[in-house]
Amino acid sequence: MNSKVMSIVIVGGGLVGLTAAASLRRIGHEVTVLEQAPEIRAVGAGISLWPNALREFDRFGIGAEVAAMGREVDAWFFDPAGRAQRPAGYDDSAFRFLFVPRPRLSTVLADAVGRTRITLGARVTGYTETDDKVVAHLDNGASVHADLLIGADGVYSRVRAQLLPDSEARPHVGNFAWRAVVPAGDERPEGTVLTLGPERIRGGYSRITETETMWFISQFGTGTLTGGKRDRALERARHLAEGGWHEDLLRMIAATPEQSILENQIMVVPALPRWTSRRVALIGDAAHGLSPHIAAGGTLGIEDVGVLRNALETTPNLRNALISYEQLRMLRFERVRTLADEVENADGPAESARRYAAFSHWMLTTAPTV
Ligand SMILES: Cc1cc2nc3c(=O)[nH]c(=O)nc-3n(C[C@H](O)[C@H](O)[C@H](O)COP(=O)(O)OP(=O)(O)OC[C@H]3O[C@@H](n4cnc5c(N)ncnc54)[C@H](O)[C@@H]3O)c2cc1C
Repeated sequence: MNSKVMSIVIVGGGLVGLTAAASLRRIGHEVTVLEQAPEIRAVGAGISLWPNALREFDRFGIGAEVAAMGREVDAWFFDPAGRAQRPAGYDDSAFRFLFVPRPRLSTVLADAVGRTRITLGARVTGYTETDDKVVAHLDNGASVHADLLIGADGVYSRVRAQLLPDSEARPHVGNFAWRAVVPAGDERPEGTVLTLGPERIRGGYSRITETETMWFISQFGTGTLTGGKRDRALERARHLAEGGWHEDLLRMIAATPEQSILENQIMVVPALPRWTSRRVALIGDAAHGLSPHIAAGGTLGIEDVGVLRNALETTPNLRNALISYEQLRMLRFERVRTLADEVENADGPAESARRYAAFSHWMLTTAPTV
């Protein structure tokens, strides 16, 4: 057991950075979060979190609060004619997760870290590391000294750019996502309804609170985009609603104000040759930003936190702890990438549902239990 208290600077106050800060603080380290934005905010509406992520929240005492703010949902896949696709050979746990409103989750995480440990408007431009310390440099000329620097600064990570030049995030060509939160209406009240359609389009909705529903549409291979965001989403949703199935989804999108719709070109981080150096570690999307079709990037980032925390707790030497973390996570992500690619390249709804179940079943049954 390593009982040395370290000062840890975490670059990025997103989902994974805040989780890391709360978790490492709980085991006694002095944490500082540097977040470039003027406030803690969460891009997006709701996020599905799987049990492997929720276990980490239990560790630092917010598991019950997160469970109470979310809705347990059972994901149901359909083909465009409305036929349910539930692949055989997997139990229900492969389809069940907690759907959580992102802004409320960020608030709870920031409170668990302690607001005084979070510096807002702090944009990190780089770092200097030596054998016995690491210094984060800010764009206002300030610097923050620490024993360990954690890069949790997302797909466009500045920390990764220094650790691994030429590792910039790339557009996942043709992969776009649209989503919005709307007042709950006459759609199915429980569960997630996800239709796997032609033209590599998928989409559906999920209740995120008693009164709100989030709809989402994505496509691989979009080609040229025309029209406004709502038109683009509707054009794709129509492919999911053959023969009247999913009229509710079409109504929901048509009634959404243009400015409420989020549209993203999906960016991905290439597989990296390493995730750490002497006193620096990457976690979350900074290390492994992936296409959201696996609906688990955040969950896997929270797994990173558990593995890093455990390595720091159990390995006396910092460099050895970081090597242990890096080896475990890089190995796991080789498999994540393979299974994610298999889902992406599935041919038709039945195969797509089966490959997704294979991914979620694998993720859950092989998750670290630290
Ligand atoms: C459409 C979509 C749907 C998704 N759905 C799911 C889902 O259902 N389930 C799931 O598990 N995952 C999902 N994901 C993935 C998930 O959103 C991400 O994996 C997760 O948010 C990554 O968190 P993070 O903290 O690593 O990065 P981010 O959330 O990107 O946070 C990075 C933070 O670092 C800050 N920052 C950046 N640069 C600097 C700097 N130089 N100095 C200081 N601060 C900096 C940023 O302002 C930001 O706050 C989805 C992703 C997308 C795009």
